[in-house]
Amino acid sequence: MKAVRVRQFGGPEVLVLEDLPDPKPGPGEVLVRLHAAGVNPVDTYIRAGTYARKPPLPYTPGEDGAGTVEALGAGVTGLDLHQQVYVIGTAQESGGTYAEMAICRPDQVYPLPARVNFAQGAALGVPHATAYRALFQRAQAKAGDTVLVHGASGAVGTAAVQLAVARGITVVGTAGTDAGLALVRAQGATRAFNHRASGYLDDIKSATGGIDIIIEMAAHLNLDQDLLLLKPFGRVVIVGNRGRIEIDPRRTMVPNAAILGMSLFSATPDDLRRIHAALGAGLADGTLRPVVGREFPLAQTRDAHVAVMESGAAGKIVVTM
Ligand code: NAP
Repeated sequence: MKAVRVRQFGGPEVLVLEDLPDPKPGPGEVLVRLHAAGVNPVDTYIRAGTYARKPPLPYTPGEDGAGTVEALGAGVTGLDLHQQVYVIGTAQESGGTYAEMAICRPDQVYPLPARVNFAQGAALGVPHATAYRALFQRAQAKAGDTVLVHGASGAVGTAAVQLAVARGITVVGTAGTDAGLALVRAQGATRAFNHRASGYLDDIKSATGGIDIIIEMAAHLNLDQDLLLLKPFGRVVIVGNRGRIEIDPRRTMVPNAAILGMSLFSATPDDLRRIHAALGAGLADGTLRPVVGREFPLAQTRDAHVAVMESGAAGKIVVTM
């Protein structure tokens, strides 16, 4: 099979397409033939060697993917051969989803309804699970709340807007381009604001009267100002952060505000079971429609890694096999 390999940490140039033997599932494992893989920002941090978690070299990157069940190891139940599935994570750190096949544990494999194509399936895993966990497991969002998705045009942001709107939550979002703003509104946000425009936070405050929950994609830029937008008992969930920031803690005091860290990678098996049950329901009733922005062939994974770190997001970036 073709697979992208990383033999040393570094820039996008360390991503090399290679021929590897087809993997075989052991007992309790699932072999998935992948048609698309999701490219997440974290894949670039791991590739660069700057992330807390470093896989042993060489390795194939990628957490997310979609395809069909190719083979089932002994003892696997609940999945059918040739069934369409999306995956989040693989059985071994060295064998990720930027490949024509991957070995997964059964709890990393979920049904993909026919109405969702493989590129959309590859957009599901990390971004949608993150959006769900941030909104509902960390911030306890409820119908009638007002949520700001601060960075709503990307993979996690578009998912968060759709998930919140489907639960009767009023959503406003931000983006950095006109195309991004239109995309955010198309997902059901009542208003979209440009996070590169001066005074946009004042505009959000006057348009909403205050925010119950902020889903924050760029805490290193926004956290201090976010605190000024919150209603009493408001929460900021830190999803994305790329550096240090000074905040005035006094801004949390009068509103009794909370700053909540969140990592998908610390979700428990029960958290994950609930997340994927909710995503499955959203896919089945059509309220969840993963947004794919750009597709690259597997041979151009380097370009996908450059693109995922550029501004001007418009949904998910995937590579296709
Ligand atoms: P993405 O698709 O690249 O989207 C990035 C988003 O951030 C875009 O909407 C972008 O808008 C926006 N943004 C850029 N500058 C901003 C600013 N000044 N203020 C607010 N938003 C701004 O990335 P993603 O996959 O959605 O991931 C988003 C972040 O969450 C990344 O940092 C990622 O590493 C992190 N993440 C964390 C977890 C976790 O477990 N905590 C899980 C998944 C992802 P424009 O491009 O339109 O300017």
